[in-house]
Amino acid sequence: MKHLALIPGDGIGKDVTDAGMQVLDAVSEISSFNYDAELFDIGSERYLASGTLLEAGEIEALRSKDAIYFGAIGDPRVRPGVLEQGVLLRLRSALDQYINFRPVTSIHPYVPLKRETDFDIHFLRENTEDFYMGMGGRVSSGGDLELSASRRMYDLKISLHLDADVEEDFAVELGLLSRKGVERFAEYSFRHAESLGQDRVTLVDKANVCTGIYGFQREIFKQKAKEHDMELDFMFVDAMAMAMITRPERYGTVAVPNLFGDILTDLGAQLQGGLGLGASGNINPEGVSMFEPIHGSAPDIAGKGIANPIAAVMAVKMMLDNLGCPEEAEMVRKAVSGCLAEGKVTPDLGGKLNTWQVADDIAARILKG
Ligand code: ATP
Repeated sequence: MKHLALIPGDGIGKDVTDAGMQVLDAVSEISSFNYDAELFDIGSERYLASGTLLEAGEIEALRSKDAIYFGAIGDPRVRPGVLEQGVLLRLRSALDQYINFRPVTSIHPYVPLKRETDFDIHFLRENTEDFYMGMGGRVSSGGDLELSASRRMYDLKISLHLDADVEEDFAVELGLLSRKGVERFAEYSFRHAESLGQDRVTLVDKANVCTGIYGFQREIFKQKAKEHDMELDFMFVDAMAMAMITRPERYGTVAVPNLFGDILTDLGAQLQGGLGLGASGNINPEGVSMFEPIHGSAPDIAGKGIANPIAAVMAVKMMLDNLGCPEEAEMVRKAVSGCLAEGKVTPDLGGKLNTWQVADDIAARILKG
């Protein structure tokens, strides 16, 4: 019996996770997969009513689960950043989910790039460091700025002082990588490629400009490549953005630091057919991982029943893989492919079905076997 946590969150998060759970129920009906799910009421409604985002007790309860299934967070009534930082980033960091795994594959017939060869890129985005440390602020003439960050591997404090004779205001955002942080990122990337029978990892960076952090990262990846007897390619992020359009089929496992990963994986989502299709996993290989659609709460379509549930259903597929149930994961993948091939889709993909009809269709295919 697997113990799951369910966090529907905001906007369309509830609709699409309901759809995902319906699909999971279908899987458990015809396989040996068994689960229970505890519902966590985390998101904007609670924040607006009580001012609370995420309690320490909730983090501990989530830590004890086998996996977390997450919908979306975000609400136009709440100042941007409050929910994202207070819930999503806090969860990823408290649960040390240091890898964000986003597969980008040719999804027929919705893939906008018509190529002779299909692509199947596995983006592994580092999820805890780089420019997403939250270490930013402002400092002016004669002033001091204290920046701090806390990670499982370290607590960090940095003080900046600006001399009084410098007559200018400055804004600072620190991008930072630790040796331990890069080592575990590199180790996971090479193991991931090995598990797929691949012989190389591509590391994306901007080491020709941000030489400090990305030069350091290259050294550690080179060392890990030697240890794993694997090849390592380097791509600058701008070149990678172009290559994703011109020759995506050349790439397999792609390791990318946090900020560039955020951008490239959204490009990847469009490359495979749109936001309604892509899923991601926030992975802690030694702890609890969290699976979610890559889209947000989509306030513009919330409550209309037209949210595409496929990204959330594919997050269920990733969760099943992560829980060691590849056959059950394959049932979901096959059912989704069937539904896409027959155009049983929501309006964002040009279809006429609503969220529930797509979920019913996928569940029915699974039950048919
Ligand atoms: P947030 O701040 O929560 O990320 P957002 O609106 O900025 O919200 P998304 O929620 O990712 O960003 O939505 C971006 C656009 O894509 C919106 O127009 C939305 O309607 C559309 N969209 C996102 N997810 C879906 C989906 N599952 N089905 C249909 N359309 C979607």
